[in-house]
Amino acid sequence: MRIDIITVLPELLESPFQHSILKRAQTKGIVEVHLHPLRDYSTNKHRTVDDYSYGGGAGMVMCIEPIARCIDKLKSERSYDEIIYMSPDGEMLDQKISNQLSTLKNIIILCGHYKGVDERVRQHLVTREISIGNYVLSGGELAAAVVCDSIIRLLPGVLNDETSALFDSFQDGMIAPPVYTRPADFNGWKVPSILLSGNEKEIEKWRHEQSLERTKQRRPEL
Ligand code: SAH
Repeated sequence: MRIDIITVLPELLESPFQHSILKRAQTKGIVEVHLHPLRDYSTNKHRTVDDYSYGGGAGMVMCIEPIARCIDKLKSERSYDEIIYMSPDGEMLDQKISNQLSTLKNIIILCGHYKGVDERVRQHLVTREISIGNYVLSGGELAAAVVCDSIIRLLPGVLNDETSALFDSFQDGMIAPPVYTRPADFNGWKVPSILLSGNEKEIEKWRHEQSLERTKQRRPEL
């Protein structure tokens, strides 16, 4: 899979892709992530990519030209399955969307800033808009990192234990069961004895019951 991210602040996105699972996925050649500094596509000498809002009002708006130039260049090099704009009023990200995006080959993610992008970018250049929640961030970069993390960990071969993503919360419409590690007794707070029993069948049954119980309590809508 290839992910191209268009941003005015590439620095903000460097660290998330340089560690742990996201780094390993790239080293293994399972995913390529390319950052495209939007200012490189500005044609004026100050490399600006924003301008005042027509009709007035506070805050700058990201111009369509540099965004169109960058998207056109990428599209001339390969075809894209989805061009995603990170937006607080987009479709709300969930595991289903992450699963679906993880099956795609090439995607572009556009990060907004300031008041957002010129509406014509949304009307004509992007194919999908995704939000990570009903709150407003100052830029799309952190949201893009969230989307990428949730997609990349699903790609075959990324997680060491191939099956472990399948047992995460939401994957089967259920919340994951509680997990414990050593010590078995911490100040009298004990690990449920069933987990120490070695009886795999009973443990599996217990985990399933716990998942059901938690889902009912915490996410009944699932
Ligand atoms: N004025 C806009 C908010 C702009 S916030 C509005 O009220 O809707 C600046 C940028 O941050 C947006 O263009 C978007 O790319 C990003 N952003 C902010 N909140 C986000 C969220 N919840 N999910 C995804 N992207 C978000």
